[in-house]
Amino acid sequence: MSKFNAQWHLAHVMPKHSTDQQRAQWHSEHALHCGCRAIAPSIAKLLKANGYEVPETLVARWNWRPIHPDARGPREVAH
Ligand SMILES: [Zn+2]
Repeated sequence: MSKFNAQWHLAHVMPKHSTDQQRAQWHSEHALHCGCRAIAPSIAKLLKANGYEVPETLVARWNWRPIHPDARGPREVAH
C-alpha cells in the first residue's frame, strides 16, 4: 500500500528558490493530494505563518489537512 501520489509530485515540483509562501502553498496542496509524509512541526510552523490553520494535536501525523482562510466557508467540518 502506498500513499505516494507520483502524478501529483510530477506536476508539483517545488521551485528551487521558493518563498515561504510558495512552500506553505506546496505543503498544503501536498497534504490534500498526496500525504506521502507526515507534516513536521517545522512545516506546521511555516503553514501557520502563512495563515493556514494547523491543529497542534495533529502535527506530525499523516492524515490531516491544513485549512487556508480563503477556503473557509459553509463546508466547515464539526468534530
Ligand atoms: Zn507526496
